[in-house]
Amino acid sequence: MDFKKIMVAGSGVLGSQIAFQSAFFGYHVNVYDINEAAINVAKERFSKLKAVYAGYFQDSDKAEAAIGRISFYTDLADAVADVDLMIEAVPEVVGIKQDFYQKLAEVAPEKTVFASNSSTMLPSQFAAFTGRPEKFLALHFANSIWQNNTAEVMGHPGTDAKYTEQVTDFARSIGMIPFVLKKEQPGYILNSLLVPLLDAGLSLWANDIADPQTIDKNWMISTGAPNGPFAILDIVGMETPYNLNLAKAELDPTYKAIAEKLKTEMIDQGKMGVSSGEGFYKY
Ligand code: NAD
Repeated sequence: MDFKKIMVAGSGVLGSQIAFQSAFFGYHVNVYDINEAAINVAKERFSKLKAVYAGYFQDSDKAEAAIGRISFYTDLADAVADVDLMIEAVPEVVGIKQDFYQKLAEVAPEKTVFASNSSTMLPSQFAAFTGRPEKFLALHFANSIWQNNTAEVMGHPGTDAKYTEQVTDFARSIGMIPFVLKKEQPGYILNSLLVPLLDAGLSLWANDIADPQTIDKNWMISTGAPNGPFAILDIVGMETPYNLNLAKAELDPTYKAIAEKLKTEMIDQGKMGVSSGEGFYKY
């Protein structure tokens, strides 16, 4: 393997999962976050993940050993010292990510490959800030990484194919099924397919063509899919589709109607999806 020591920057929802998955599959992982309070939250996440992995993989010794391979840092230079691969999972805010890469570029060893887990942004937006554009690309995981084990690998025009290959091998080595994109695409493969489906379902609902259950049932029977768009929305939660539709509302009034309906009929009623026990369905 090309990589031995991994750093994960940002220990929130996805960063903690990426770090635990890497440690579970034998890597030494440096977890970096901005302060001790964030690190303490991360430690709680890791102890929950330990139980999840012990159950899912039926191996509590391996889950315990994973914890032993994770180290915590609030100093960026210490966190990245001797690291082969840095995976960034800091908030989905352009300014935060740019600032992070700029600071990291000043202290990271030359050998360190940088990968971003950003869901909606492109590596070319940050390449110039990394100080090593040829060693920079996106490595995008899905939530609940241990079971939804896809890894989308996406370079920008300046990424050296050698590093795309190394990162793909790394993804495979931590139990992922890698998908390498030939060029940059906002939303990668998964969200390029999923978002239009969810939007189409929401638009049928907002235009009062059919109710969510009818739309889902049609999709499931017609295609053999296990879930329709509204069951998927319940898993995603209402916040993300609300924000996305609100952002698109300036371009098209249909999106405005969707955002308003999501707000008044779902979010304001506390129907956030699976996480709150009720969304378009009850759980
Ligand atoms: P989150 O808010 O749960 O976690 C972000 C973490 O980054 C926090 O621990 C925060 O303290 C830390 N942080 C803030 N500023 C920082 C900085 N300057 N340096 C280092 N750490 C900093 O966010 P998340 O949901 O884990 O998302 C992180 C990234 O992963 C985003 O780019 C997002 O698009 C992507 N992603 C999220 C999901 C998901 O389902 N949540 C799925 C795939 C990809």
